[in-house]
Amino acid sequence: MKLMEGKKGIILGVANDKSIGWACAKQLHDAGATIGFSYLNDAIEKRVRPLAESIGAEYIEKCDVTKDEEIESFVKGFGEKYGQIDFIVHSLAFADGEDLKAGVLNTSRDGFKLANDISAYSLIAVTREARPYMKEGSAVVSMTYLGSTRVVEGYNVMGIAKAALETANMYLAHDLGPDGIRVNTISAGPIKTLAASGVPRFKAMLKRFADSAALGRNVVAEEVGKTCLYLLSDLSSGVTGETHYVDAGYQTMGFKHPKED
Ligand code: NAD
Repeated sequence: MKLMEGKKGIILGVANDKSIGWACAKQLHDAGATIGFSYLNDAIEKRVRPLAESIGAEYIEKCDVTKDEEIESFVKGFGEKYGQIDFIVHSLAFADGEDLKAGVLNTSRDGFKLANDISAYSLIAVTREARPYMKEGSAVVSMTYLGSTRVVEGYNVMGIAKAALETANMYLAHDLGPDGIRVNTISAGPIKTLAASGVPRFKAMLKRFADSAALGRNVVAEEVGKTCLYLLSDLSSGVTGETHYVDAGYQTMGFKHPKED
């Protein structure tokens, strides 16, 4: 029997075949899961629908997480159709490009609100909506980044939002723990995706990260997908409230000689 046979759940945040959420979808599908997908708008639907249908998905609906009514209809719609929500993959984030460029000191009130609303609060809102359909053994996974706990130049207000996400992750693990529902977040190393293209000088960042990582390379989305499968499956039944790094050992390093030395 496959690892996720009989499990049904939702993935929010696939934009295209480069998305980390799609890498998670492929792993979960291969492991036997039934998946419902959200898309942000019509333009993204054009890319998500064929991808989702290629793995047999039958539930593909709009969900802009800034709108409570769209969270409700997306999550409830899946819950009513399948009667259960065994897993949630929250793989979305957004900050205004102007705020990312401005630096934290010059972040606007609205920009701060928007980044935190979309990137952190939505994890709480989606999990709450799904809660009536989740039973013991269900699990939630979100995606975070090292800019939450260390200064990563250019990450700015998104670092603050990821810190909020990681803290929400811990408190949700506490809230849902008594019911046997686990909540974890994956801190992925930099990967070239649509969202990453908004981070200034991302290409240079990829090279520096690879040079400094314990494994001496960057990670690929598939590695995040495999960890997502582990965290949503029974293999990680004793793990909750964690920020789990999938970054080729970058965050563990204190100092490494550059290759040219
Ligand atoms: P991506 O662009 O493929 O995915 C981001 C998704 O967020 C898109 O599907 C977009 O539609 C969605 N989104 C934005 N605003 C939304 C809203 N209001 N409502 C609903 N959805 C919305 O990029 P990705 O890199 O796959 O990002 C997925 C997650 O991984 C994000 O949380 C990101 O911060 C995180 N992450 C990415 C990296 C990286 O280097 N790519 C590293 C660590 C963590």
